[in-house]
Amino acid sequence: MDTPTDGPLGSSNELTPLPVDHARLRRAVRELLAAVGENPDREGLLDTPDRVARMYAEVFAGLRTDPAIFLQKTFTQKHDEMVLVKDIEFSSMCEHHLLPFFGKAHIAYLPNGRIVGLSKLARVVDAVARRPQVQERMTEEIADLVMTHLKARGVGVIVEAAHTCMSVRGVRKAGAMTITSSMRGGFLDHPMTRNELMALVFGK
Ligand code: ZN
Repeated sequence: MDTPTDGPLGSSNELTPLPVDHARLRRAVRELLAAVGENPDREGLLDTPDRVARMYAEVFAGLRTDPAIFLQKTFTQKHDEMVLVKDIEFSSMCEHHLLPFFGKAHIAYLPNGRIVGLSKLARVVDAVARRPQVQERMTEEIADLVMTHLKARGVGVIVEAAHTCMSVRGVRKAGAMTITSSMRGGFLDHPMTRNELMALVFGK
């Protein structure tokens, strides 16, 4: 029997997982191989449907995780200045081609008397990234989650990523980086705050 696979975030903080239909995934991968003219029954491909099914369960584990859950526990802290967590590595799947894109996210916020454990911001990135995504929406979603649940005075999220759908197909431009940013509150209203964030992230 097929059982839902726990995501990389562990099971303790997860919502009741929606079932991942492994048998259906295996059938679909087999069908895909046949459709491109391969023989799914040749030795090298025999276990491929099962491997791909398990991989999909893993890379789409975010579909079974509510990212807001990581922002529920906050701490009272008198700290008015910017908090920045830099270089949070992530990998995601472009929803247009189902090919990976990966890179780093940088999350800054201006606390409003409440702070959150720094690792929790990395958990949020993982939960948002591990689903069919586009980088632009992912950036917005992270900013809105932090803004809403921390009631922050401002949030700045910058995501830089390489898209394999740009390198292995289409224009085939390996090495191109896509940078997106979402600014809320103080980061939107005050150019100096935004510039400080840019300098901290990109250096000079
Ligand atoms: Zn793509």
